[in-house]
Amino acid sequence: MDTHCPYCALQCGMRLAPLAGSAGGVEVRERTAFPVNRGALCGKGRTAPEVLAKAVRLTEPLVRDPASGELVPADWDTALDRVAAGLAGVRGRHGADAVGVFGGGGLTNEKAYALGKFTRLVLGSSQIDYNGRFCMSSAAAAGNRAFGVDRGLPFPLADIPRTGCVILVGSNLAETMPPALRYLTELRENGGTLIVVDPRRTRTAEQADLHLAPRPGTDLALALGLLHLVVAEGRVDEAFVAARTSGWPAARAAAMAHWPELVERITGVPVPRLRAAVELFCAPESAMVLTARGPEQQAKGTDTVGAWINLCLATGRAGRPLSGYGCLTGQGNGQGGREHGQKADQLPGYRMLADQAAREHVAGVWGVSPDTLPGPGRSAYELLDALGRDTPDGVRALLLLASNPVVSAPRAAHVEERMRALDFLAVCDVVLSESARLADVVLPVTQWAEETGTLTNLEGRVLLRRRAVDPPPGCRSDLEVLNALAARLGWDRGFPTDPAEVFAELRRASAGGKADYSGISYRRIVEEDGVFWPCPAAGPGEAPHPGTPRLFLDRFATEDGRARFAPVSHRPSAEEPDADYPVLLTTGRVLAQYQSGAQTRRVAELNAAAPGPFVQLHPRLAARLGAAEGDRLAVVSRRGRAVAPARISADIRPDTVFMPFHWPGEGRANTLTNPALDPTSRMPEFKVCAVRVELADGR
Ligand code: SF4
Repeated sequence: MDTHCPYCALQCGMRLAPLAGSAGGVEVRERTAFPVNRGALCGKGRTAPEVLAKAVRLTEPLVRDPASGELVPADWDTALDRVAAGLAGVRGRHGADAVGVFGGGGLTNEKAYALGKFTRLVLGSSQIDYNGRFCMSSAAAAGNRAFGVDRGLPFPLADIPRTGCVILVGSNLAETMPPALRYLTELRENGGTLIVVDPRRTRTAEQADLHLAPRPGTDLALALGLLHLVVAEGRVDEAFVAARTSGWPAARAAAMAHWPELVERITGVPVPRLRAAVELFCAPESAMVLTARGPEQQAKGTDTVGAWINLCLATGRAGRPLSGYGCLTGQGNGQGGREHGQKADQLPGYRMLADQAAREHVAGVWGVSPDTLPGPGRSAYELLDALGRDTPDGVRALLLLASNPVVSAPRAAHVEERMRALDFLAVCDVVLSESARLADVVLPVTQWAEETGTLTNLEGRVLLRRRAVDPPPGCRSDLEVLNALAARLGWDRGFPTDPAEVFAELRRASAGGKADYSGISYRRIVEEDGVFWPCPAAGPGEAPHPGTPRLFLDRFATEDGRARFAPVSHRPSAEEPDADYPVLLTTGRVLAQYQSGAQTRRVAELNAAAPGPFVQLHPRLAARLGAAEGDRLAVVSRRGRAVAPARISADIRPDTVFMPFHWPGEGRANTLTNPALDPTSRMPEFKVCAVRVELADGR
């Protein structure tokens, strides 16, 4: 059975075959014909069937026993009754907005769509958001502002090897999505060049022709410094700027205020390296800028991405073949998950809840009055921060799916405290995650290879994951759970449980929207190795729309068709180092683990490769602390303390430490991170905060 990996946004194609000697077990085989990864997989994808095994997962509902306080097994009716009563009770006492829903970027398009509809119609609540807010929301906001639409990559990955230069900003794809590295390798084999911007010399940075290592939180200034040099050296594509953009004078003025020596002082990147980057980027006919979480997970993430987009626009590297700006989305359905209604401010088809025409269209598909749809809700961190609050706008009950905020949210100890303060918490998950352990009811749900559904990869390519194995008898799909809860909550119009039926409705709801899926079918996805949105349905007698692998070649998706410069300026991070917290912390991922680790920490091979957290620090900082390799280090921020062994390396700046965020417990990196929010995207500042580092056990 041809299908796709359950993890990251590359959505590698794979083939699942029966495992010899195992009743119902499967193993992963290569699927070389799928163009995105051509058979290559990382260890996470290769070992994904292990998470299907009964030994590591939930196979029966759990309810909290009032007498013992423990989670104990229950039958499905009992568990669903408890969830419905918990949600309805809070709604009755405190109003619909006291009930919140928190989804995930791993949910299929069908589930994301159904969850948004369930929240707004059945619960009547505006309080829904998802963990994708923590992933790519700054790039989405900047893309919408500049181009009028947000699709991670506006071109296929296959274009990368044929461009002249790629600036890769804050992405360690050699570890996060290793099969994608070949696109950069082929770029260099074809004579193109690679510039990597990262405070650490990562495995990806090792491949670069030029590595720029700015202080965390200063890549906005770095992009402005490059744009300054572009102007000063007469490299602006004036004809492109005049014909296809607006807002250049203000953006130009902002860039001219960031002269190279100032940018060197802010970023720590020497002026000659800035000049070298401009030469590499501007010399070829075509070039790209690709960003990931580094520039995006900042309290100024939207403007930081905007600064990199400005660089593309000023040099005519957007809206042209083999050129452009793109975001490397992180989660498996980070792209589709934000298009179909589980984001606080959006309706299906990338329509906005605040737009009356959008409300009328979607309400028409749902058979309700637009007036019954709630307005926009809170963003992810704001929703988590409101949990359990005894205030008029507090959220007292939460339905949580496919997310583990106890490990993955910023200021995680506080988030855990808020979750514990809830009147009622229900969790749908595959495993008993750290967040599920706090629940009043845990519902064991089916997962990737056990169910069918679509996902949209980082290229905007809509893919089909197909059911390849039967789930354990005790598990139900999220769609079945929503159906059962809707019935118990008095919704008498049914809630489809068949993914194909949900997808058909999603297509109608998305028709005419920016992310138009109306011309996409399961059959086409299989036959065409995915279909790129927008793909409107063909009218009578028309040929099917071919899908849109490349956006913006004729016009941008703004009202006047022009891309918009953003007049952005450097500003400090929400927390800068001081006498008490003199070091910068940045966080990220490692090769063998995925996000909160809820699945990958249960896979023996991955755990052996990456068994726990660590603190990467420069030898000079280690010497100052008197720390040796492996010493337990305490990293302390204004929000808490995390302890992990030292990993000493000259591959990181001396003013910065790095921690991966996959683990709970004393090494939980997100205990430390700063929930300061970007004013536009509401992205927290995961990527930079001030800390002090000390020997955990003294000397
Ligand atoms: Fe799965 Fe991503 Fe690894 Fe591909 S790169 S196998 S999609 S985790």
